[in-house]
Amino acid sequence: MPQPAPQHLAALLGDPVHHSLSPRIHNHWFARYRIPGIYLALKVAEEDLAAALTLLPRLGFRGFNVTMPHKQRALGLVDRCDAVARRVGAVNTVLVMEDGTLLGRNTDGEGFLASLRAAQPAWRADAAPAVLLGAGGAARAIACALLDAGVPELRLVNRSRARAESVAADLADPRLRILPWPERCDALLGAGLLVNATSLGMHGCPELELDLDALPREAVVADIVYAPRWTKLLRRARARGHPVVEGIGMLLYQAVPGFTHWGGVVPEVDAGLWSLVAGCGEGE
Ligand code: NDP
Repeated sequence: MPQPAPQHLAALLGDPVHHSLSPRIHNHWFARYRIPGIYLALKVAEEDLAAALTLLPRLGFRGFNVTMPHKQRALGLVDRCDAVARRVGAVNTVLVMEDGTLLGRNTDGEGFLASLRAAQPAWRADAAPAVLLGAGGAARAIACALLDAGVPELRLVNRSRARAESVAADLADPRLRILPWPERCDALLGAGLLVNATSLGMHGCPELELDLDALPREAVVADIVYAPRWTKLLRRARARGHPVVEGIGMLLYQAVPGFTHWGGVVPEVDAGLWSLVAGCGEGE
């Protein structure tokens, strides 16, 4: 019996894409909700991004995730984008609307926050300052989300001060304080949340050197690096008794808004999905 053609098409656009976990996530949800759909990883060169975003919707694609190196460029190629994507300066999700226009979104920050709240429901944004290590694309999105969530102070610590200043200038929030990278240990004093949003600790990168002595024991420690799943930072934090948040959670939760659009249901980040991706340790 011939199978009916998939009605729900979506894709990841990036270069490279072969390590990506996104197809596993979205195809798991298509199968779980019995939706006739397929999610592809498409290697798209920089010069082809505009053509891909024009042609694929005409072929029936309902939306895309956008990854390196296209996240900033996609911002200028969509018809409109939400306020978060504008503030972050990057798009990670493109939704094809009913009228064929493209809406750009950035779901990294809400994905991080949803993952934090799922893993550590007792965490309260307004209870204590948050320390954010990093000022790259992911850190920008997380900074936005933490400020929107109501942290009383956000201590942004990055190796390159100029990049941290650019984040501070774009977000223009008096609660954001830049601290120099060599002072990252002192930045932990009195904090309620520590987030590593640098690439330090990732396979192939140097380890994050950070003495946790100044961090209050009840502070939550989150690492957005997920390859390896248990980074040295998370292992040290867990050994000190801190509540921890793994990076894979952000990866799973940032996918929810996209699937909600192209799958037509709000998908659950369930145990089956965790076990599907938890051992992978690679990819986007
Ligand atoms: P970027 O390249 O935009 O930023 C990298 C960040 O790491 C910068 O702040 C950079 O500092 C810092 N950094 C790199 N090397 C060093 C070093 N030797 N010493 C100190 N700081 C360093 O990357 P992204 O923001 O896109 O991603 C950062 C990490 O987050 C990656 O590991 C990525 O895999 C992970 N990630 C996880 C996601 C998830 O869903 N869990 C989603 C997105 C990313 P500087 O500005 O000084 O160069």
